[in-house]
Amino acid sequence: QAKRDGRAHYQYFSPEMNVEMLARMHLEQRLRKAVKLSEFYLEYQPIIDMRSGAITSVEALIRWQDPEFGLISPEDFIPIAEETGLIDPLGEWILHQALTDLAQLHAQGLMISMAINVSGRQCINSKGISFYNVLKDALAEHAIAAKYIHIEITESILIEDKPQCLQILDAIKQLGVDIYLDDFGTGYSALSYLTQCPISVIKIDKSFIDKVLVNTSDKKLIKAIVMMAKNLDLPLVAEGVETVEQWDFLRDLGCDYAQGYLMSKPLSNIKLLAHLLQAKPFDYLTLPTELAAV
Ligand code: C2E
Ligand code: MG
Ligand code: MG
Ligand code: MG
Repeated sequence: QAKRDGRAHYQYFSPEMNVEMLARMHLEQRLRKAVKLSEFYLEYQPIIDMRSGAITSVEALIRWQDPEFGLISPEDFIPIAEETGLIDPLGEWILHQALTDLAQLHAQGLMISMAINVSGRQCINSKGISFYNVLKDALAEHAIAAKYIHIEITESILIEDKPQCLQILDAIKQLGVDIYLDDFGTGYSALSYLTQCPISVIKIDKSFIDKVLVNTSDKKLIKAIVMMAKNLDLPLVAEGVETVEQWDFLRDLGCDYAQGYLMSKPLSNIKLLAHLLQAKPFDYLTLPTELAAV
Protein backbone atom coordinates (compact mmCIF):
# COMPACT_ATOMS: atom_id res chain seq x y z
CA GLN A 1 0.00 0.00 0.00
CA ALA A 2 2.89 2.29 0.79
CA LYS A 3 4.13 2.01 -2.77
CA ARG A 4 0.85 3.12 -4.29
CA ASP A 5 1.06 6.39 -2.38
CA GLY A 6 2.68 9.07 -4.52
CA ARG A 7 4.89 10.22 -1.65
CA ALA A 8 5.62 6.74 -0.46
CA HIS A 9 9.20 7.56 0.56
CA TYR A 10 8.03 9.11 3.79
CA GLN A 11 5.58 6.39 4.82
CA TYR A 12 6.11 5.18 8.35
CA PHE A 13 5.28 1.72 9.51
CA SER A 14 3.19 1.23 12.60
CA PRO A 15 4.76 -0.90 15.35
CA GLU A 16 2.24 -3.63 14.56
CA MET A 17 3.33 -3.64 10.96
CA ASN A 18 6.96 -3.99 11.99
CA VAL A 19 6.18 -6.98 14.12
CA GLU A 20 4.12 -8.46 11.32
CA MET A 21 6.86 -7.86 8.79
CA LEU A 22 9.51 -9.36 11.03
CA ALA A 23 7.37 -12.43 11.64
CA ARG A 24 6.74 -12.73 7.95
CA MET A 25 10.45 -12.36 7.07
CA HIS A 26 11.27 -14.95 9.69
CA LEU A 27 8.64 -17.30 8.29
CA GLU A 28 10.03 -16.74 4.81
CA GLN A 29 13.54 -17.65 5.99
CA ARG A 30 12.29 -20.77 7.68
CA LEU A 31 10.30 -21.72 4.60
CA ARG A 32 13.39 -21.32 2.44
CA LYS A 33 15.27 -23.67 4.76
CA ALA A 34 12.35 -26.09 4.95
CA VAL A 35 12.24 -26.32 1.15
CA LYS A 36 15.95 -27.04 1.08
CA LEU A 37 15.61 -29.75 3.73
CA SER A 38 12.21 -31.04 2.50
CA GLU A 39 10.57 -30.62 5.92
CA PHE A 40 7.14 -31.36 4.49
CA TYR A 41 4.82 -34.28 4.17
CA LEU A 42 1.58 -34.92 2.37
CA GLU A 43 -1.75 -36.02 3.73
CA TYR A 44 -4.53 -37.44 1.60
CA GLN A 45 -8.24 -36.84 2.04
CA PRO A 46 -10.69 -39.28 0.43
CA ILE A 47 -13.30 -38.05 -2.05
CA ILE A 48 -16.44 -40.18 -2.11
CA ASP A 49 -18.95 -40.93 -4.83
CA MET A 50 -22.26 -40.01 -3.22
CA ARG A 51 -24.19 -42.66 -5.15
CA SER A 52 -21.99 -45.72 -4.75
CA GLY A 53 -20.25 -44.66 -1.57
CA ALA A 54 -16.91 -45.68 -3.02
CA ILE A 55 -13.74 -43.68 -2.56
CA THR A 56 -12.89 -42.57 -6.07
CA SER A 57 -9.96 -40.32 -5.39
CA VAL A 58 -7.91 -38.57 -2.74
CA GLU A 59 -6.72 -34.98 -2.53
CA ALA A 60 -3.07 -34.41 -1.66
CA LEU A 61 -2.67 -31.71 1.00
CA ILE A 62 0.70 -30.39 2.08
CA ARG A 63 1.79 -30.24 5.71
CA TRP A 64 4.73 -28.33 7.18
CA GLN A 65 5.93 -29.23 10.65
CA ASP A 66 8.36 -26.51 11.68
CA PRO A 67 10.56 -27.23 14.72
CA GLU A 68 9.91 -23.70 16.05
CA PHE A 69 6.42 -22.80 14.87
CA GLY A 70 4.87 -26.27 14.93
CA LEU A 71 2.36 -27.25 12.28
CA ILE A 72 1.85 -24.33 9.91
CA SER A 73 -1.27 -24.17 7.74
CA PRO A 74 -0.81 -24.21 3.97
CA GLU A 75 -3.18 -21.24 3.93
CA ASP A 76 -0.36 -19.31 5.65
CA PHE A 77 2.71 -20.54 3.81
CA ILE A 78 1.52 -21.32 0.27
CA PRO A 79 0.95 -17.58 -0.41
CA ILE A 80 4.52 -16.86 0.79
CA ALA A 81 5.85 -19.69 -1.36
CA GLU A 82 4.02 -18.16 -4.32
CA GLU A 83 5.35 -14.65 -3.73
CA THR A 84 8.94 -15.76 -3.21
CA GLY A 85 9.10 -18.27 -6.05
CA LEU A 86 9.66 -21.08 -3.53
CA ILE A 87 6.52 -22.65 -4.98
CA ASP A 88 8.71 -23.92 -7.87
CA PRO A 89 10.80 -26.37 -5.87
CA LEU A 90 7.95 -26.97 -3.40
CA GLY A 91 5.45 -27.68 -6.18
CA GLU A 92 7.81 -30.20 -7.77
CA TRP A 93 8.39 -31.88 -4.42
CA ILE A 94 4.61 -32.15 -3.92
CA LEU A 95 4.13 -33.60 -7.40
CA HIS A 96 6.84 -36.24 -7.00
CA GLN A 97 5.82 -37.21 -3.48
CA ALA A 98 2.17 -37.53 -4.51
CA LEU A 99 3.05 -39.67 -7.54
CA THR A 100 5.38 -41.84 -5.46
CA ASP A 101 2.59 -42.48 -2.95
CA LEU A 102 0.02 -43.08 -5.70
CA ALA A 103 2.32 -45.59 -7.43
CA GLN A 104 2.55 -47.44 -4.13
CA LEU A 105 -1.27 -47.62 -3.83
CA HIS A 106 -1.54 -48.81 -7.42
CA ALA A 107 1.06 -51.50 -6.70
CA GLN A 108 -1.37 -52.78 -4.03
CA GLY A 109 -4.16 -52.89 -6.62
CA LEU A 110 -5.85 -49.79 -5.19
CA MET A 111 -6.58 -48.00 -8.46
CA ILE A 112 -7.83 -44.68 -7.15
CA SER A 113 -6.98 -41.32 -8.64
CA MET A 114 -5.32 -38.36 -7.00
CA ALA A 115 -5.97 -34.64 -6.93
CA ILE A 116 -3.04 -32.25 -6.72
CA ASN A 117 -3.48 -28.55 -5.93
CA VAL A 118 -1.65 -26.31 -8.35
CA SER A 119 -1.23 -22.59 -7.88
CA GLY A 120 -1.21 -20.04 -10.68
CA ARG A 121 2.47 -19.34 -10.20
CA GLN A 122 3.26 -22.91 -11.20
CA CYS A 123 1.94 -22.47 -14.75
CA ILE A 124 5.38 -21.46 -15.94
CA ASN A 125 8.31 -21.90 -13.58
CA SER A 126 11.29 -19.57 -13.12
CA LYS A 127 13.26 -21.52 -15.73
CA GLY A 128 10.47 -20.86 -18.22
CA ILE A 129 9.30 -24.48 -18.25
CA SER A 130 5.52 -24.93 -18.36
CA PHE A 131 3.67 -27.07 -15.86
CA TYR A 132 2.49 -29.17 -18.79
CA ASN A 133 6.06 -30.37 -19.34
CA VAL A 134 6.77 -30.77 -15.64
CA LEU A 135 3.64 -32.89 -15.23
CA LYS A 136 4.14 -34.95 -18.38
CA ASP A 137 7.72 -35.84 -17.38
CA ALA A 138 6.70 -36.66 -13.82
CA LEU A 139 3.93 -38.99 -15.00
CA ALA A 140 6.37 -40.78 -17.29
CA GLU A 141 8.99 -41.03 -14.56
CA HIS A 142 6.53 -42.58 -12.10
CA ALA A 143 4.79 -44.66 -14.79
CA ILE A 144 1.35 -43.32 -13.88
CA ALA A 145 -1.39 -42.96 -16.49
CA ALA A 146 -2.68 -39.40 -16.86
CA LYS A 147 -6.26 -40.43 -16.10
CA TYR A 148 -5.29 -41.15 -12.48
CA ILE A 149 -4.25 -37.55 -11.83
CA HIS A 150 -6.29 -34.41 -11.75
CA ILE A 151 -5.22 -30.95 -10.77
CA GLU A 152 -7.16 -28.44 -8.70
CA ILE A 153 -6.94 -24.80 -9.66
CA THR A 154 -8.78 -21.72 -8.43
CA GLU A 155 -10.45 -19.03 -10.47
CA SER A 156 -7.57 -16.66 -9.82
CA ILE A 157 -5.35 -18.73 -12.15
CA LEU A 158 -7.78 -17.97 -14.95
CA ILE A 159 -8.22 -14.31 -14.18
CA GLU A 160 -4.99 -12.89 -12.78
CA ASP A 161 -2.39 -14.91 -14.58
CA LYS A 162 -0.98 -14.77 -18.03
CA PRO A 163 -3.11 -15.86 -20.98
CA GLN A 164 -0.54 -18.61 -21.60
CA CYS A 165 -1.94 -20.34 -18.55
CA LEU A 166 -5.11 -21.14 -20.43
CA GLN A 167 -3.14 -22.78 -23.25
CA ILE A 168 -1.12 -24.75 -20.73
CA LEU A 169 -4.31 -25.93 -19.02
CA ASP A 170 -5.71 -26.95 -22.41
CA ALA A 171 -2.57 -28.99 -23.11
CA ILE A 172 -2.77 -30.61 -19.66
CA LYS A 173 -6.38 -31.56 -20.32
CA GLN A 174 -5.35 -33.00 -23.72
CA LEU A 175 -2.79 -35.10 -21.90
CA GLY A 176 -5.69 -36.75 -20.06
CA VAL A 177 -5.34 -34.94 -16.74
CA ASP A 178 -8.69 -33.48 -15.65
CA ILE A 179 -8.87 -30.01 -14.22
CA TYR A 180 -11.04 -29.31 -11.18
CA LEU A 181 -12.16 -25.81 -10.24
CA ASP A 182 -11.47 -25.49 -6.50
CA ASP A 183 -13.21 -23.23 -3.96
CA PHE A 184 -16.06 -22.48 -6.34
CA GLY A 185 -18.13 -19.51 -5.21
CA THR A 186 -15.42 -17.67 -3.30
CA GLY A 187 -13.73 -15.85 -6.16
CA TYR A 188 -14.95 -13.61 -8.90
CA SER A 189 -17.35 -16.24 -10.20
CA ALA A 190 -17.36 -14.98 -13.74
CA LEU A 191 -19.46 -17.87 -14.94
CA SER A 192 -18.21 -17.63 -18.51
CA TYR A 193 -14.95 -19.20 -17.30
CA LEU A 194 -16.79 -22.42 -16.69
CA THR A 195 -17.32 -22.97 -20.39
CA GLN A 196 -14.26 -21.17 -21.75
CA CYS A 197 -11.78 -23.10 -19.65
CA PRO A 198 -11.08 -26.83 -19.75
CA ILE A 199 -12.78 -27.45 -16.40
CA SER A 200 -14.09 -31.01 -15.83
CA VAL A 201 -15.40 -30.80 -12.28
CA ILE A 202 -16.48 -28.04 -9.86
CA LYS A 203 -15.68 -28.17 -6.15
CA ILE A 204 -18.17 -26.15 -4.10
CA ASP A 205 -16.37 -24.28 -1.36
CA LYS A 206 -16.80 -25.36 2.25
CA SER A 207 -18.21 -21.96 3.19
CA PHE A 208 -21.41 -22.84 1.29
CA ILE A 209 -21.60 -26.33 2.73
CA ASP A 210 -21.25 -24.87 6.24
CA LYS A 211 -24.37 -22.77 5.78
CA VAL A 212 -26.38 -25.25 3.82
CA LEU A 213 -28.79 -26.21 6.58
CA VAL A 214 -28.80 -23.00 8.57
CA ASN A 215 -29.82 -20.49 6.01
CA THR A 216 -32.73 -20.78 3.56
CA SER A 217 -31.23 -18.43 1.01
CA ASP A 218 -27.99 -20.42 1.04
CA LYS A 219 -30.02 -23.56 0.51
CA LYS A 220 -31.47 -21.96 -2.60
CA LEU A 221 -28.02 -20.88 -3.70
CA ILE A 222 -26.65 -24.42 -3.41
CA LYS A 223 -29.65 -25.73 -5.34
CA ALA A 224 -28.96 -23.19 -8.07
CA ILE A 225 -25.27 -24.20 -8.21
CA VAL A 226 -26.17 -27.89 -8.48
CA MET A 227 -28.69 -27.17 -11.24
CA MET A 228 -26.25 -25.00 -13.14
CA ALA A 229 -23.53 -27.65 -12.92
CA LYS A 230 -25.98 -30.30 -14.16
CA ASN A 231 -26.94 -28.12 -17.12
CA LEU A 232 -23.28 -27.67 -17.98
CA ASP A 233 -22.62 -31.40 -17.53
CA LEU A 234 -20.06 -30.63 -14.85
CA PRO A 235 -19.89 -33.04 -11.92
CA LEU A 236 -19.79 -31.45 -8.45
CA VAL A 237 -17.73 -32.15 -5.35
CA ALA A 238 -18.96 -30.76 -2.03
CA GLU A 239 -16.02 -29.74 0.16
CA GLY A 240 -16.06 -29.83 3.95
CA VAL A 241 -19.04 -32.11 4.60
CA GLU A 242 -19.10 -32.54 8.37
CA THR A 243 -22.59 -33.76 9.22
CA VAL A 244 -24.97 -36.47 8.15
CA GLU A 245 -27.61 -33.78 7.54
CA GLN A 246 -25.32 -32.04 5.04
CA TRP A 247 -24.57 -35.36 3.37
CA ASP A 248 -28.26 -36.21 3.01
CA PHE A 249 -29.20 -32.77 1.76
CA LEU A 250 -26.44 -32.73 -0.86
CA ARG A 251 -27.04 -36.31 -2.01
CA ASP A 252 -30.76 -35.67 -2.38
CA LEU A 253 -29.99 -32.58 -4.47
CA GLY A 254 -27.91 -34.74 -6.80
CA CYS A 255 -24.43 -33.62 -5.81
CA ASP A 256 -21.97 -36.17 -7.23
CA TYR A 257 -19.04 -36.34 -4.80
CA ALA A 258 -18.29 -35.32 -1.24
CA GLN A 259 -15.17 -34.70 0.78
CA GLY A 260 -15.08 -33.83 4.45
CA TYR A 261 -14.41 -34.79 8.05
CA LEU A 262 -17.67 -36.79 8.19
CA MET A 263 -16.14 -39.37 5.87
CA SER A 264 -12.47 -38.87 6.65
CA LYS A 265 -9.94 -36.28 7.70
CA PRO A 266 -6.76 -36.01 5.64
CA LEU A 267 -4.62 -39.10 6.37
CA SER A 268 -0.92 -39.91 6.23
CA ASN A 269 0.02 -42.23 3.35
CA ILE A 270 0.28 -45.17 5.75
CA LYS A 271 -3.12 -44.51 7.30
CA LEU A 272 -4.62 -43.98 3.87
CA LEU A 273 -3.37 -47.36 2.73
CA ALA A 274 -4.93 -49.03 5.78
CA HIS A 275 -8.14 -47.07 5.26
CA LEU A 276 -8.40 -48.08 1.61
CA LEU A 277 -7.64 -51.72 2.31
CA GLN A 278 -10.42 -52.00 4.88
CA ALA A 279 -12.97 -49.64 3.28
CA LYS A 280 -15.92 -51.54 1.89
CA PRO A 281 -17.90 -49.85 -0.86
CA PHE A 282 -19.56 -47.33 1.19
CA ASP A 283 -19.87 -47.62 4.82
CA TYR A 284 -21.10 -44.08 4.82
CA LEU A 285 -24.58 -44.87 3.59
CA THR A 286 -25.09 -46.66 6.86
CA LEU A 287 -23.36 -43.94 8.85
CA PRO A 288 -26.54 -42.18 9.96
CA THR A 289 -27.77 -45.24 11.89
CA GLU A 290 -24.30 -45.95 13.22
CA LEU A 291 -24.09 -42.42 14.48
CA ALA A 292 -27.56 -42.60 15.89
CA ALA A 293 -26.49 -45.60 17.92
CA VAL A 294 -23.60 -43.69 19.52
P1 C2E B 1 -8.35 -26.71 -0.59
O1 C2E B 1 -7.60 -27.19 -1.77
O2 C2E B 1 -9.69 -26.14 -0.81
O3 C2E B 1 -8.39 -27.95 0.40
C1 C2E B 1 -9.47 -28.25 1.24
C2 C2E B 1 -9.18 -27.84 2.67
O4 C2E B 1 -10.35 -28.09 3.46
C3 C2E B 1 -8.05 -28.61 3.33
O5 C2E B 1 -7.40 -27.73 4.24
C4 C2E B 1 -8.81 -29.71 4.09
O6 C2E B 1 -8.09 -30.26 5.16
C5 C2E B 1 -9.99 -28.90 4.56
N1 C2E B 1 -11.16 -29.73 4.88
C6 C2E B 1 -11.67 -30.78 4.18
N2 C2E B 1 -12.78 -31.27 4.76
C7 C2E B 1 -13.01 -30.50 5.85
C8 C2E B 1 -14.04 -30.51 6.86
O7 C2E B 1 -14.95 -31.30 6.86
N3 C2E B 1 -13.93 -29.54 7.83
C9 C2E B 1 -12.91 -28.64 7.86
N4 C2E B 1 -12.89 -27.74 8.84
N5 C2E B 1 -11.94 -28.60 6.90
C10 C2E B 1 -11.99 -29.52 5.91
P2 C2E B 1 -5.81 -27.60 4.29
O8 C2E B 1 -5.17 -28.92 4.11
O9 C2E B 1 -5.49 -26.80 5.52
O10 C2E B 1 -5.46 -26.76 3.00
C11 C2E B 1 -5.87 -25.44 2.88
C12 C2E B 1 -5.59 -24.91 1.50
O11 C2E B 1 -4.18 -24.80 1.28
C13 C2E B 1 -6.12 -25.79 0.37
O12 C2E B 1 -7.50 -25.58 0.20
C14 C2E B 1 -5.27 -25.32 -0.77
O13 C2E B 1 -5.77 -24.10 -1.28
C15 C2E B 1 -3.94 -25.05 -0.09
N6 C2E B 1 -3.08 -26.23 -0.26
C16 C2E B 1 -3.02 -27.36 0.48
N7 C2E B 1 -2.13 -28.24 -0.02
C17 C2E B 1 -1.62 -27.65 -1.12
C18 C2E B 1 -0.65 -28.04 -2.12
O14 C2E B 1 -0.09 -29.16 -2.09
N8 C2E B 1 -0.37 -27.14 -3.12
C19 C2E B 1 -0.99 -25.92 -3.19
N9 C2E B 1 -0.66 -25.09 -4.21
N10 C2E B 1 -1.91 -25.54 -2.30
C20 C2E B 1 -2.22 -26.38 -1.28
MG1 MG C 1 -8.05 -28.32 -3.31
MG1 MG D 1 -11.25 -25.98 -1.85
MG1 MG E 1 -9.34 -23.69 -0.17
